[in-house]
Amino acid sequence: MKRDYYEILGISRSSTQEEIKKAYRKLALKYHPDRNPGDKEAEERFKEAAEAYEVLRDPEKRRLYDAYGHEGLKQSGFQGFSGFDDIFGAFNDIFGEFFGFSSRDVHSRRGPQPGRDLRYDLSITFIEAVKGVEKEIEIERLETCSSCSGTGLKEGTHPSICRMCGGRGQVVRAEGFFRIATTCPNCNGSGQVIENPCPSCGGKGRRPQRQKVTIRIPAGVDTGSRLRLREEGEAGLRGGPRGDLYIVLHVEPHEFFERRGNDVYFTMPISISQAALGAKVEVPTLDGTKEIEIPPGLQTGESIRLKGEGIPDLRGLGSGDFVIQFFVKTPQNLTERQKELLEEFQKIESTKEETLQKEGGFLKKFLKKFDFFEKEG
Ligand SMILES: [Zn+2]
Ligand SMILES: [Zn+2]
Repeated sequence: MKRDYYEILGISRSSTQEEIKKAYRKLALKYHPDRNPGDKEAEERFKEAAEAYEVLRDPEKRRLYDAYGHEGLKQSGFQGFSGFDDIFGAFNDIFGEFFGFSSRDVHSRRGPQPGRDLRYDLSITFIEAVKGVEKEIEIERLETCSSCSGTGLKEGTHPSICRMCGGRGQVVRAEGFFRIATTCPNCNGSGQVIENPCPSCGGKGRRPQRQKVTIRIPAGVDTGSRLRLREEGEAGLRGGPRGDLYIVLHVEPHEFFERRGNDVYFTMPISISQAALGAKVEVPTLDGTKEIEIPPGLQTGESIRLKGEGIPDLRGLGSGDFVIQFFVKTPQNLTERQKELLEEFQKIESTKEETLQKEGGFLKKFLKKFDFFEKEG
Protein backbone atom coordinates (compact mmCIF):
# COMPACT_ATOMS: atom_id res chain seq x y z
CA MET A 1 0.00 0.00 0.00
CA LYS A 2 1.30 3.42 -0.97
CA ARG A 3 1.00 6.07 1.72
CA ASP A 4 -0.73 9.38 1.18
CA TYR A 5 1.68 12.01 -0.09
CA TYR A 6 0.39 14.67 2.30
CA GLU A 7 0.75 12.27 5.20
CA ILE A 8 4.33 11.44 4.15
CA LEU A 9 5.30 15.10 4.21
CA GLY A 10 3.19 15.76 7.31
CA ILE A 11 1.27 18.60 5.76
CA SER A 12 -2.37 19.42 5.08
CA ARG A 13 -4.07 19.19 1.72
CA SER A 14 -4.27 22.95 1.50
CA SER A 15 -0.54 23.49 1.99
CA THR A 16 1.15 26.12 -0.14
CA GLN A 17 4.10 25.39 -2.42
CA GLU A 18 6.35 27.04 0.15
CA GLU A 19 5.08 24.72 2.92
CA ILE A 20 5.50 21.66 0.72
CA LYS A 21 9.05 22.63 -0.06
CA LYS A 22 9.86 23.27 3.59
CA ALA A 23 8.39 19.95 4.72
CA TYR A 24 10.29 18.05 2.06
CA ARG A 25 13.53 19.83 2.82
CA LYS A 26 13.27 18.88 6.48
CA LEU A 27 12.64 15.19 5.71
CA ALA A 28 15.27 15.02 3.00
CA LEU A 29 17.93 16.33 5.36
CA LYS A 30 16.86 13.97 8.12
CA TYR A 31 16.76 10.83 5.98
CA HIS A 32 19.51 11.56 3.47
CA PRO A 33 21.48 8.33 2.86
CA ASP A 34 24.76 10.07 3.64
CA ARG A 35 23.55 10.77 7.17
CA ASN A 36 22.06 7.29 7.60
CA PRO A 37 24.50 4.91 5.99
CA GLY A 38 23.11 1.39 5.62
CA ASP A 39 19.78 2.32 7.18
CA LYS A 40 17.13 0.79 4.89
CA GLU A 41 14.26 2.41 6.76
CA ALA A 42 15.78 5.87 6.31
CA GLU A 43 16.41 5.16 2.67
CA GLU A 44 12.75 4.24 2.21
CA ARG A 45 11.63 7.42 3.97
CA PHE A 46 13.99 9.46 1.80
CA LYS A 47 12.62 7.93 -1.39
CA GLU A 48 9.05 8.27 -0.24
CA ALA A 49 9.50 11.95 0.61
CA ALA A 50 11.19 12.65 -2.72
CA GLU A 51 8.33 11.05 -4.60
CA ALA A 52 5.70 12.92 -2.60
CA TYR A 53 7.54 16.17 -3.25
CA GLU A 54 7.96 15.43 -6.94
CA VAL A 55 4.19 15.09 -7.25
CA LEU A 56 2.95 17.84 -4.95
CA ARG A 57 5.27 20.54 -6.25
CA ASP A 58 3.92 20.04 -9.76
CA PRO A 59 0.47 21.71 -9.99
CA GLU A 60 -0.66 19.35 -12.77
CA LYS A 61 0.36 16.19 -10.91
CA ARG A 62 -0.98 17.54 -7.63
CA ARG A 63 -4.39 18.18 -9.18
CA LEU A 64 -4.46 14.64 -10.57
CA TYR A 65 -3.44 13.21 -7.23
CA ASP A 66 -6.01 15.29 -5.30
CA ALA A 67 -8.77 14.17 -7.63
CA TYR A 68 -7.89 10.51 -8.25
CA GLY A 69 -5.14 9.54 -5.82
CA HIS A 70 -2.24 7.24 -6.69
CA GLU A 71 -4.32 5.51 -9.32
CA GLY A 72 -4.90 8.78 -11.17
CA LEU A 73 -1.17 9.42 -11.40
CA LYS A 74 -0.57 5.90 -12.62
CA GLN A 75 -3.17 6.34 -15.32
CA SER A 76 -1.42 9.48 -16.47
CA GLY A 77 1.87 7.62 -16.71
CA PHE A 78 3.60 8.71 -13.50
CA GLN A 79 5.21 5.60 -12.07
CA GLY A 80 6.96 6.96 -9.06
CA PHE A 81 10.69 6.64 -9.01
CA SER A 82 12.63 3.81 -10.50
CA GLY A 83 16.09 4.56 -9.22
CA PHE A 84 18.27 6.85 -7.22
CA ASP A 85 18.92 9.19 -10.11
CA ASP A 86 15.32 10.34 -10.07
CA ILE A 87 15.44 10.87 -6.35
CA PHE A 88 18.61 12.86 -6.44
CA GLY A 89 17.04 14.79 -9.27
CA ALA A 90 14.33 15.96 -6.87
CA PHE A 91 16.91 16.46 -4.17
CA ASN A 92 19.21 18.58 -6.29
CA ASP A 93 16.27 20.45 -7.57
CA ILE A 94 15.33 21.78 -4.18
CA PHE A 95 18.78 22.16 -2.70
CA GLY A 96 20.13 23.58 -5.87
CA GLU A 97 23.66 24.54 -5.15
CA PHE A 98 23.46 23.39 -1.55
CA PHE A 99 25.88 20.58 -1.01
CA GLY A 100 26.11 20.14 2.72
CA PHE A 101 25.97 16.45 1.96
CA SER A 102 27.54 14.87 -0.97
CA SER A 103 25.04 14.61 -3.69
CA ARG A 104 26.24 12.79 -6.79
CA ASP A 105 26.41 15.94 -8.75
CA VAL A 106 29.10 17.56 -6.65
CA HIS A 107 31.64 14.88 -7.46
CA SER A 108 31.05 15.19 -11.11
CA ARG A 109 30.96 18.98 -11.35
CA ARG A 110 34.53 19.19 -12.40
CA GLY A 111 34.91 15.95 -14.26
CA PRO A 112 32.63 14.21 -16.69
CA GLN A 113 28.96 14.81 -16.04
CA PRO A 114 26.35 12.38 -17.31
CA GLY A 115 23.54 13.65 -19.51
CA ARG A 116 20.07 13.75 -18.04
CA ASP A 117 17.41 11.14 -18.72
CA LEU A 118 14.52 12.35 -20.83
CA ARG A 119 10.87 11.38 -20.89
CA TYR A 120 8.59 11.28 -23.88
CA ASP A 121 4.87 10.52 -23.71
CA LEU A 122 3.63 8.61 -26.72
CA SER A 123 0.07 7.70 -27.66
CA ILE A 124 -0.53 4.56 -29.70
CA THR A 125 -3.66 2.79 -30.86
CA PHE A 126 -5.10 -0.32 -29.26
CA ILE A 127 -4.08 -2.48 -32.20
CA GLU A 128 -0.54 -1.03 -32.22
CA ALA A 129 -0.22 -1.95 -28.53
CA VAL A 130 -1.49 -5.45 -29.18
CA LYS A 131 0.57 -6.12 -32.28
CA GLY A 132 3.68 -4.08 -31.57
CA VAL A 133 4.79 -1.25 -33.83
CA GLU A 134 7.77 0.77 -34.89
CA LYS A 135 7.46 4.53 -34.43
CA GLU A 136 9.65 7.45 -35.29
CA ILE A 137 9.51 10.42 -32.96
CA GLU A 138 11.27 13.75 -33.00
CA ILE A 139 12.67 15.10 -29.75
CA GLU A 140 14.74 18.08 -28.77
CA ARG A 141 17.72 17.20 -26.64
CA LEU A 142 21.11 18.61 -25.74
CA GLU A 143 23.83 17.36 -28.05
CA THR A 144 27.56 17.86 -27.79
CA CYS A 145 28.48 21.07 -29.59
CA SER A 146 30.25 20.12 -32.79
CA SER A 147 32.18 23.41 -33.04
CA CYS A 148 34.09 22.97 -29.78
CA SER A 149 33.62 19.21 -29.28
CA GLY A 150 31.99 20.00 -25.95
CA THR A 151 34.81 21.98 -24.38
CA GLY A 152 32.92 25.28 -24.59
CA LEU A 153 36.11 27.00 -25.69
CA LYS A 154 36.60 29.22 -28.68
CA GLU A 155 39.02 27.59 -31.08
CA GLY A 156 42.68 28.05 -30.05
CA THR A 157 41.90 29.32 -26.51
CA HIS A 158 42.34 27.77 -23.07
CA PRO A 159 40.34 28.00 -19.85
CA SER A 160 41.77 29.92 -16.90
CA ILE A 161 41.63 29.04 -13.20
CA CYS A 162 38.68 30.56 -11.31
CA ARG A 163 39.81 33.34 -9.00
CA MET A 164 36.91 33.06 -6.58
CA CYS A 165 37.54 29.47 -5.52
CA GLY A 166 41.15 29.11 -6.60
CA GLY A 167 40.21 26.20 -8.82
CA ARG A 168 38.57 24.11 -6.07
CA GLY A 169 35.09 24.54 -7.46
CA GLN A 170 33.56 25.05 -4.00
CA VAL A 171 33.36 27.78 -1.44
CA VAL A 172 32.75 26.86 2.22
CA ARG A 173 30.66 28.71 4.76
CA ALA A 174 29.21 27.85 8.18
CA GLU A 175 25.52 27.64 8.86
CA GLY A 176 24.50 26.50 12.34
CA PHE A 177 26.07 23.13 13.01
CA PHE A 178 26.88 22.52 9.42
CA ARG A 179 29.81 23.53 7.39
CA ILE A 180 28.27 24.00 4.05
CA ALA A 181 30.23 23.72 0.89
CA THR A 182 28.45 25.48 -1.89
CA THR A 183 29.35 25.26 -5.49
CA CYS A 184 31.39 28.25 -6.54
CA PRO A 185 28.97 30.64 -8.22
CA ASN A 186 31.66 32.10 -10.43
CA CYS A 187 32.68 28.88 -12.21
CA ASN A 188 29.67 26.70 -11.42
CA GLY A 189 31.97 24.23 -9.72
CA SER A 190 34.28 23.53 -12.58
CA GLY A 191 37.19 25.45 -11.02
CA GLN A 192 37.81 26.99 -14.36
CA VAL A 193 36.38 29.89 -16.26
CA ILE A 194 36.13 30.28 -19.95
CA GLU A 195 37.09 33.74 -21.01
CA ASN A 196 36.65 33.09 -24.71
CA PRO A 197 33.50 30.99 -25.08
CA CYS A 198 32.67 29.00 -28.18
CA PRO A 199 30.33 31.17 -30.26
CA SER A 200 28.13 28.22 -31.27
CA CYS A 201 27.15 27.05 -27.78
CA GLY A 202 28.03 30.11 -25.70
CA GLY A 203 30.58 28.09 -23.74
CA LYS A 204 28.09 25.49 -22.52
CA GLY A 205 29.55 22.65 -24.58
CA ARG A 206 26.09 21.42 -25.61
CA ARG A 207 23.37 22.74 -27.85
CA PRO A 208 19.69 21.78 -28.12
CA GLN A 209 18.99 19.91 -31.32
CA ARG A 210 16.00 18.17 -32.83
CA GLN A 211 16.63 14.50 -33.40
CA LYS A 212 14.63 11.65 -34.85
CA VAL A 213 14.53 8.49 -32.78
CA THR A 214 13.10 5.16 -33.89
CA ILE A 215 11.26 3.20 -31.21
CA ARG A 216 10.44 -0.45 -31.44
CA ILE A 217 7.36 -1.07 -29.32
CA PRO A 218 6.90 -4.74 -28.44
CA ALA A 219 3.51 -6.45 -28.73
CA GLY A 220 1.53 -6.52 -25.49
CA VAL A 221 2.34 -3.10 -23.99
CA ASP A 222 -0.35 -1.20 -22.10
CA THR A 223 -0.96 2.32 -20.83
CA GLY A 224 1.77 3.16 -18.36
CA SER A 225 4.34 0.81 -19.89
CA ARG A 226 7.76 2.44 -19.93
CA LEU A 227 10.37 1.69 -22.53
CA ARG A 228 13.95 2.59 -21.81
CA LEU A 229 16.12 3.58 -24.74
CA ARG A 230 19.67 3.49 -23.54
CA GLU A 231 21.82 6.50 -24.35
CA GLU A 232 19.08 8.32 -26.23
CA GLY A 233 18.79 11.04 -23.56
CA GLU A 234 20.88 14.18 -23.24
CA ALA A 235 24.54 14.13 -24.21
CA GLY A 236 26.93 14.16 -21.24
CA LEU A 237 29.36 16.94 -20.42
CA ARG A 238 33.14 16.66 -20.53
CA GLY A 239 32.99 13.11 -21.81
CA GLY A 240 30.25 11.95 -19.43
CA PRO A 241 27.86 9.24 -20.63
CA ARG A 242 24.59 10.05 -22.34
CA GLY A 243 21.35 9.84 -20.41
CA ASP A 244 18.56 7.46 -21.33
CA LEU A 245 15.25 8.18 -22.98
CA TYR A 246 12.10 6.85 -21.33
CA ILE A 247 9.06 6.40 -23.51
CA VAL A 248 5.85 6.39 -21.48
CA LEU A 249 3.03 4.79 -23.43
CA HIS A 250 -0.62 5.75 -23.52
CA VAL A 251 -2.90 3.33 -25.31
CA GLU A 252 -6.08 4.75 -26.84
CA PRO A 253 -9.19 2.74 -26.07
CA HIS A 254 -10.67 0.65 -28.88
CA GLU A 255 -14.18 1.25 -30.16
CA PHE A 256 -15.26 -2.39 -29.75
CA PHE A 257 -12.56 -4.31 -27.90
CA GLU A 258 -11.95 -4.14 -24.20
CA ARG A 259 -8.71 -5.27 -22.61
CA ARG A 260 -8.71 -7.16 -19.30
CA GLY A 261 -5.19 -8.27 -18.50
CA ASN A 262 -4.09 -10.05 -21.63
CA ASP A 263 -7.63 -11.09 -22.56
CA VAL A 264 -9.73 -9.13 -25.03
CA TYR A 265 -13.51 -8.93 -24.69
CA PHE A 266 -15.88 -8.27 -27.53
CA THR A 267 -19.65 -8.00 -27.15
CA MET A 268 -21.65 -9.37 -30.04
CA PRO A 269 -25.37 -8.93 -30.63
CA ILE A 270 -27.26 -11.89 -32.17
CA SER A 271 -30.86 -12.27 -33.24
CA ILE A 272 -33.48 -14.39 -31.51
CA SER A 273 -33.46 -16.92 -34.30
CA GLN A 274 -29.66 -17.17 -34.34
CA ALA A 275 -29.68 -17.75 -30.60
CA ALA A 276 -32.45 -20.34 -30.75
CA LEU A 277 -31.40 -22.25 -33.85
CA GLY A 278 -27.64 -21.77 -33.76
CA ALA A 279 -25.73 -20.07 -36.56
CA LYS A 280 -22.43 -19.42 -38.22
CA VAL A 281 -21.40 -15.81 -37.68
CA GLU A 282 -18.44 -13.67 -38.68
CA VAL A 283 -16.72 -11.99 -35.70
CA PRO A 284 -13.92 -9.42 -35.68
CA THR A 285 -10.67 -10.59 -34.06
CA LEU A 286 -7.28 -9.00 -33.46
CA ASP A 287 -6.14 -10.39 -36.82
CA GLY A 288 -9.17 -9.54 -38.93
CA THR A 289 -12.30 -11.64 -38.87
CA LYS A 290 -13.16 -15.23 -38.13
CA GLU A 291 -16.18 -17.47 -38.64
CA ILE A 292 -17.45 -19.10 -35.48
CA GLU A 293 -20.37 -21.38 -34.79
CA ILE A 294 -23.02 -20.48 -32.25
CA PRO A 295 -24.60 -23.55 -30.68
CA PRO A 296 -28.43 -23.69 -30.69
CA GLY A 297 -30.05 -22.41 -27.50
CA LEU A 298 -27.45 -19.77 -26.67
CA GLN A 299 -28.42 -17.35 -23.87
CA THR A 300 -27.54 -13.73 -23.30
CA GLY A 301 -24.34 -13.50 -21.27
CA GLU A 302 -22.86 -16.73 -22.59
CA SER A 303 -19.50 -16.44 -24.27
CA ILE A 304 -17.14 -18.24 -26.57
CA ARG A 305 -13.46 -18.13 -25.68
CA LEU A 306 -10.84 -18.30 -28.43
CA LYS A 307 -7.83 -19.65 -26.54
CA GLY A 308 -4.54 -17.88 -27.13
CA GLU A 309 -5.99 -15.34 -29.55
CA GLY A 310 -5.74 -12.43 -27.12
CA ILE A 311 -2.78 -10.21 -26.33
CA PRO A 312 0.75 -11.67 -26.17
CA ASP A 313 2.33 -11.47 -22.74
CA LEU A 314 5.20 -8.96 -22.51
CA ARG A 315 7.35 -11.41 -20.55
CA GLY A 316 6.76 -14.10 -23.15
CA LEU A 317 4.30 -16.15 -21.09
CA GLY A 318 1.99 -17.05 -23.96
CA SER A 319 -1.06 -15.07 -25.00
CA GLY A 320 -4.40 -14.21 -23.44
CA ASP A 321 -7.76 -15.23 -24.89
CA PHE A 322 -10.20 -13.52 -27.18
CA VAL A 323 -13.64 -13.69 -25.59
CA ILE A 324 -16.87 -13.12 -27.52
CA GLN A 325 -19.77 -12.29 -25.22
CA PHE A 326 -23.22 -12.61 -26.73
CA PHE A 327 -26.44 -10.85 -26.03
CA VAL A 328 -29.72 -11.65 -27.69
CA LYS A 329 -31.21 -8.64 -29.34
CA THR A 330 -34.97 -8.39 -29.10
CA PRO A 331 -36.30 -7.40 -32.53
CA GLN A 332 -38.02 -4.04 -32.84
CA ASN A 333 -40.10 -2.47 -35.64
CA LEU A 334 -41.35 -5.80 -36.90
CA THR A 335 -42.85 -6.12 -40.36
CA GLU A 336 -46.39 -7.51 -40.63
CA ARG A 337 -45.06 -10.86 -41.74
CA GLN A 338 -42.57 -11.11 -38.88
CA LYS A 339 -45.27 -10.20 -36.42
CA GLU A 340 -47.56 -12.84 -37.86
CA LEU A 341 -44.90 -15.53 -37.57
CA LEU A 342 -43.99 -14.58 -34.03
CA GLU A 343 -47.61 -14.53 -32.97
CA GLU A 344 -48.03 -17.98 -34.41
CA PHE A 345 -44.87 -19.07 -32.58
CA GLN A 346 -46.25 -17.65 -29.35
CA LYS A 347 -49.53 -19.54 -29.81
CA ILE A 348 -47.77 -22.87 -30.16
CA GLU A 349 -45.53 -22.00 -27.24
CA SER A 350 -48.35 -21.17 -24.83
CA THR A 351 -50.80 -23.91 -25.71
CA LYS A 352 -48.24 -26.64 -25.44
CA GLU A 353 -49.27 -28.77 -22.45
CA GLU A 354 -45.78 -29.54 -21.20
CA THR A 355 -44.65 -25.93 -21.40
CA LEU A 356 -47.53 -24.93 -19.18
CA GLN A 357 -46.69 -27.64 -16.72
CA LYS A 358 -43.07 -26.67 -16.66
CA GLU A 359 -43.95 -23.09 -15.97
CA GLY A 360 -46.45 -24.13 -13.33
CA GLY A 361 -43.73 -26.13 -11.68
CA PHE A 362 -41.39 -23.17 -11.76
CA LEU A 363 -44.00 -20.86 -10.30
CA LYS A 364 -44.76 -23.31 -7.53
CA LYS A 365 -41.10 -23.54 -6.59
CA PHE A 366 -40.72 -19.78 -6.74
CA LEU A 367 -43.67 -19.11 -4.48
CA LYS A 368 -42.63 -21.80 -2.06
CA LYS A 369 -39.21 -20.31 -1.75
CA PHE A 370 -40.67 -16.96 -0.84
CA ASP A 371 -43.18 -18.47 1.51
CA PHE A 372 -46.34 -17.46 -0.36
CA PHE A 373 -47.54 -20.84 -1.45
CA GLU A 374 -47.92 -22.63 1.87
CA LYS A 375 -49.92 -19.86 3.51
CA GLU A 376 -52.31 -19.50 0.66
CA GLY A 377 -52.82 -23.24 0.77
ZN1 LIG B 1 30.65 24.95 -28.58
ZN1 LIG C 1 35.21 28.98 -8.94
